[in-house]
Amino acid sequence: MQLPIHDNLTQARTTFVTHLECSLHGDRYPADQVHGLSKAGKPLLVRYDLEAIERSVTRRELSERPADMWRYREFLPVRRAANIVSLGESHTPLIPVPSLRTGSGEVLIKDEGRLPTGSFKARGLCMAVSMAKELGLRRLAMPTNGNAGAALAAYAARAGMEAYVFCPEDTPETNVREIAAQGARVWRVNGLINDCGRLVAEGKEAMGWFDLSTLKEPYRIEGKKTMGLELADQFGWDVPDVIFYPTGGGTGLIGMWKAFRELQSIGWLGMRLPRMVAVQASGCAPIVRAFEQGTEFAELWENAHTVASGIRVPAAIGDFLILRAVRDSGGFAIAVDDEAILAARDEIGKREGVLLCPEGAATVAAYRKALAEGRVTPQETAVLFNCASGLKYPLPDVSGQLDCRQPVDWGRLIDAGT
Ligand SMILES: *Cc1c(COP(=O)(O)O)cnc(C)c1O
Repeated sequence: MQLPIHDNLTQARTTFVTHLECSLHGDRYPADQVHGLSKAGKPLLVRYDLEAIERSVTRRELSERPADMWRYREFLPVRRAANIVSLGESHTPLIPVPSLRTGSGEVLIKDEGRLPTGSFKARGLCMAVSMAKELGLRRLAMPTNGNAGAALAAYAARAGMEAYVFCPEDTPETNVREIAAQGARVWRVNGLINDCGRLVAEGKEAMGWFDLSTLKEPYRIEGKKTMGLELADQFGWDVPDVIFYPTGGGTGLIGMWKAFRELQSIGWLGMRLPRMVAVQASGCAPIVRAFEQGTEFAELWENAHTVASGIRVPAAIGDFLILRAVRDSGGFAIAVDDEAILAARDEIGKREGVLLCPEGAATVAAYRKALAEGRVTPQETAVLFNCASGLKYPLPDVSGQLDCRQPVDWGRLIDAGT
């Protein structure tokens, strides 16, 4: 059986990548070689001959291709279609949320839980593993709060590569088990994600693995960039007014902003770009603190804690890129507490039938808060990112039991049970 994306994958092709570039200093690095960070220890960004892309394909041609991530192949780094490692990265829906709407602007949830392995980490790891294959890498490693490790495990299995995954010991049980079930070697570590990251870095020499940590290689961001390309496409080559993004390492926010700028530079988007809003939990909000203090970089957040494990990232190597995108776009950074996150998850599930992950629920809580504070208006169209399936997380206990051998007191069912 063939995946529906087949058409987007079969075209043998070269890409429009010209070189890689240090995101802080702008110095250049050759494409088609294995790279981690730049000489300055900062993330590398992939650069393209955008004008050549513009000459070779039209928006209309793109929109006629199957609706998946590879529709945008000209904007992506994989040179040979045979190296693409795919599990069916279909477009994700924009779901209207009437109960959040208070004016003429629409409020839409982009539900990334529909992707392979149930989170948007699939976009980044699909790209990173495909590029690892293209560059001849065989053994991959990463620190993870859960979802990235699951996506790495799946794509590495698919590519026939080895994967080593390290997660904080309180990572949701489902995540740890799905990582193992998809063939990776996984360990719980008695620390946070930055401690896990240190282990991956320290083990490099002894284990000979390639470090796929967030932004420590150049290609996960190109995968996450497809969220921006896809959004523009779904809006008819236009954009929403404001995007609320739950921000951990920030790959998605940086990637989307990169996508919008690339599209704008070839005239596929106009002058108006969305305001990017970085959403964090108040128990771990290094980006919000740096935004408010007006600094270029963010300091490590001590004693990080939140139920939204995907955004429990005390220090992000791409901090200045997140802050730059937020500021350049006219957006802001905002923190919400765990109580508001869980209340939002409960409310949207019960009212709208959409089971959010805690990180997705954080964007709902942040949207409400920003609206109340006048930082967004009811006239603005807002996109809130639900980055993973709510099913991957612990849910509140349900104890309602019914004895089928006794007469049932039907009246009791209305207010008891759940
Ligand atoms: C990884 C993750 C995030 C944070 O995404 P970044 O792009 O790394 O900031 C948010 N939510 C969930 C569910 C995640 O898995």
